[in-house]
Amino acid sequence: MTKTIEKATTYHNYIDGKWVKSETGRTFASYNPANTEEVVGYFPLSSEKDLKAAVDAAHRAFPAWKKTPAPERAEIILKAAHILESRKEELARNMVREMGKVIKEARGDVQEAIDMAKYAAGEGRRLLGMTVPSELRNKFAMAIRVPIGIIGVITPWNFPVAIPSWKMLPALVAGNTIVFKPASDTPLVATQFVEILNEAGLPPGVVNLVTGSGSEVGMPLVEDPRVGCISVTGSSFTGRKIAGRCGELMKRITCELGGKNAICVMEDADIDLAVDGALWGSFGTAGQRCTATSRIIVHKKVYEEFSKKFVERAKALKIGDGLDPKIDVGPVVSKSQLESVHEYVEIGKNEGAKLLFGGNILTEGDLAKGCFHEPTIFGDVKASMRIAQEEIFGPVTAIIPVADFDEAIEVANGTEYGLSLSMYTKDVNRAFQAIEELESGIVYINAPTIGAEIQLPFGGVKQTGNGHREAGTTAIDQFTEWKSVYVDYSGSLQRAQIDNYEGNQ
Ligand code: NAD
Repeated sequence: MTKTIEKATTYHNYIDGKWVKSETGRTFASYNPANTEEVVGYFPLSSEKDLKAAVDAAHRAFPAWKKTPAPERAEIILKAAHILESRKEELARNMVREMGKVIKEARGDVQEAIDMAKYAAGEGRRLLGMTVPSELRNKFAMAIRVPIGIIGVITPWNFPVAIPSWKMLPALVAGNTIVFKPASDTPLVATQFVEILNEAGLPPGVVNLVTGSGSEVGMPLVEDPRVGCISVTGSSFTGRKIAGRCGELMKRITCELGGKNAICVMEDADIDLAVDGALWGSFGTAGQRCTATSRIIVHKKVYEEFSKKFVERAKALKIGDGLDPKIDVGPVVSKSQLESVHEYVEIGKNEGAKLLFGGNILTEGDLAKGCFHEPTIFGDVKASMRIAQEEIFGPVTAIIPVADFDEAIEVANGTEYGLSLSMYTKDVNRAFQAIEELESGIVYINAPTIGAEIQLPFGGVKQTGNGHREAGTTAIDQFTEWKSVYVDYSGSLQRAQIDNYEGNQ
């Protein structure tokens, strides 16, 4: 049944352990992209004043949370994992209603948060420091990790539970407090994620949620001097803006930004396997993953065979509301995203790329109520075309023919991004050469560009990021400072080598 505007629930910010209205009294609606007549909920359109109240709470909560033993903090994170497991289906269904990915993928999104919660909880009994030998007798040298303080978490809508979990759970186990500003397209699942963390037993003020715009809430969060680190995932445009401001403020910032990922298919590849990978990589989450395969670089000897098989498979994809388990591709997140994706289809046509399949906004029957775009494949694409260079973030992919392995590597590396690149080949020598030469934070061999596991570092090079990595053991690096400690138990003043001039003069 279609929910009417009147029936949708109004949600609140979460500050200092309480659900509170925004001081502005203003709200914004979150819509179902499969049926934009359905309002999923209303959320506070908050102000800088709300944000300050959240930072105040996080600031007050920090000293006690920092002193809580890490294994004790981890117990709360582990409990959150169990609550996430018990509410997985509810969260997944709300995620489909809120941003459109198909139900199986939405379950995967929540699963990623469960995995991350268990992994981060394990860190509570590690948080490894280091000890090294001192150059002096009776002196002990070690480095320990300390939390940074308040982490400002700014997230996009495409992984509305997974991405906040990658940031917040390691940050919490490391002893930080958090102010979380989620994307305005997915405030419902963000709200539920925060609800779960608090139900798991976080003390008031440790995690605070403020919904609203990037300019009214996001930027004040970036600029508040009490916030020690900003962890942002979003477009490269947004990342540059926030990183610029953080640079001026000398504030730590970790950025996970855009991508223009590619699969390379060599002439010796298993073509059916490559078609499977390209289909999943290009059209999973309707192409709205930072790791989406938006370029397929194919050796000319297998170009015809690959393109034909790929188009056949794309034709069979079922498009519709992701709550229906038979659907393969859901809507894109919003009307404006739909327009932006479709604009790229026009750009591709005008650039002279060959439209092999798709290209249309879908308006038949119930699809007219949503933001549906046909899976779209361009062939004969040149590496310099805009559709082969710019992030489209929708179900549009470009097949680029190349003459050999070296050209494939050159084309794969030839964009401003560097998140995820993949090589399909049966030749182990080429596979290792690709691992060495592909310029990206993630490399896949005989697998598509999507599908990262949380126990390895995640992130990219060039315009995709600023050198930090989420997930894996590196997640903790983002959210801790190193403190080097020297303990001299000799009972006399000993000088380290730099101050010991004997023998140097
Ligand atoms: P976006 O850049 O529009 O917004 C991301 C977040 O930043 C939102 O919460 C937004 O409100 C906030 N924001 C925007 N302007 C701001 C400002 N001036 N100050 C502070 N906050 C501000 O991105 P989006 O459309 O939500 O997400 C899609 C983008 O995210 C794509 O480019 C995609 O590649 C990228 N992404 C990257 C990764 C990765 O790990 N590399 C993962 C997922 C998505």
